[in-house]
Amino acid sequence: MKIETICVQGGYEPKSGDPRVLPLYQSTTYYYKDPDEMAYLFNSPKAGHIYSRISNPTTAAYEEKISQLEGGVGAMATGSGMSAIMVACLNLANKGENILAINNLYGGTFNLFKITLPRLGINTKFFADDMSDEEIESLIDENTKALYMETIANPAMIVCDFDRYAKICKKHGIVFVVDNTLATPYHVRPFEHGANVVVHSSTKYLDGHASCVGGIIVDGGNFEYKGNPRYKEFCVPDASYHDVVYVEEGGKAAYIIKARMQYMRDMGMSPSPFNSWLTNIGTETLHVRMERTSSNALQLAKLLQKNEKVEWVLYPGLKGDKYHDLAEKYYKNGFGGMLVFGIKGGREEAENFIRKLQLIKQVTHIADVRSCVLHPASTTHRQLSDADLTLAGITPNMVRLSIGIENVDDLAQDITQALEKI
Ligand SMILES: *Cc1c(COP(=O)(O)O)cnc(C)c1O
Repeated sequence: MKIETICVQGGYEPKSGDPRVLPLYQSTTYYYKDPDEMAYLFNSPKAGHIYSRISNPTTAAYEEKISQLEGGVGAMATGSGMSAIMVACLNLANKGENILAINNLYGGTFNLFKITLPRLGINTKFFADDMSDEEIESLIDENTKALYMETIANPAMIVCDFDRYAKICKKHGIVFVVDNTLATPYHVRPFEHGANVVVHSSTKYLDGHASCVGGIIVDGGNFEYKGNPRYKEFCVPDASYHDVVYVEEGGKAAYIIKARMQYMRDMGMSPSPFNSWLTNIGTETLHVRMERTSSNALQLAKLLQKNEKVEWVLYPGLKGDKYHDLAEKYYKNGFGGMLVFGIKGGREEAENFIRKLQLIKQVTHIADVRSCVLHPASTTHRQLSDADLTLAGITPNMVRLSIGIENVDDLAQDITQALEKI
């Protein structure tokens, strides 16, 4: 099936007499008549649902849809994007080991990698996109378990060069993890370009309506853990789960089975069935929303470029953008709804522009149907001095826009009138 059809119909196949729409199973638990049946399930949890911390039928159908959309072999939904990212890493790296990550990351992810994972004994080695392959490879050692990037780094708008990083990961036999939140599988499918694990904050485009915080991890099934000494915990019996061996139990889906059996079981960052149900409804229109969002964003990026009050615009869909060629190579059907621009002047002009907007509201969010705006320097990156902001690629005059699916002329009019007033 093509992406558009999976969005609408993937993950749920009713049998005769079943509800046509994926039902909401708002239940913590599941009934089995025979104790042998229950005992069997404790041995083979994939065979059915036991308890909604581990799995739930509504969540499972939604997971199956996202797995199909990304072209993976299995998925696990979580209570937030952050918990998906945390578990995606914990499932690979243990105390004393490390991961490699690009330094341009979503702020929460940066903090997790810089402060919280090191507290647990897992170190992050940060690299910059403009380092040479040799410089990046020199950071890899025998304890390196993953390389982590975002399809497009927000707000620096760096497009991931999948071929380049997949080659480095292949050469050293390490897992390539990609946060595909902002591109979504409608535009980019990272597994087709060598990624092995995909994570999402489903809070953004997958839900699309700003109603549910959530995350999801997808297993590409394209990494050979079996017999790989770097990942021996996938290949030896797990004493915490009656000696299951994940590469045997899970086969190609060893990664995601291990994530569920170890981390979902013990840490319990499960989504509520209601949120899975709502997010699944959101995904039914993902393709239609992304198409409109992307075409709106491209038109507005061009409009901003022509406005005399605007100093620069970063949007990978623009010809001449530093990342346009890479975006052309990896993106399909458009370039997403996020754009960043610098207003002539500084912090004050950027803040005044936001004050003058009427339709486009200031919120700490991105990627839903409503257009919104944020001033990174005074909000998400407020603790940083102007010098540190520059290091992080954020200038005081930077404005971040997340473009929704409203009428593009109304959005253009709002932006133009606000620029006129400053
Ligand atoms: C929002 C976001 C996250 C964090 O997800 P939450 O659902 O807010 O926990 C991670 N990565 C990216 C790219 C995001 O935009």
